[in-house]
Amino acid sequence: MSASGEDAGKAADDLRAVAEVPPGLRCPACGSSHVAQVLGDNGGVSSVCTACGRSWS
Ligand SMILES: [Zn+2]
Repeated sequence: MSASGEDAGKAADDLRAVAEVPPGLRCPACGSSHVAQVLGDNGGVSSVCTACGRSWS
């Protein structure tokens, strides 16, 4: 693991899918079940709809 903070400013652009989405999780905006979970701020997990692009947590 890198302990350097050199690239900390770029982290916000580096969304990564982290896990299978739990069954039944749907987008609150469009109702699609095409939802991915990504790492958000401070190591939390946010959900992103791959159909309309909405993100929430
Ligand atoms: Zn959506």
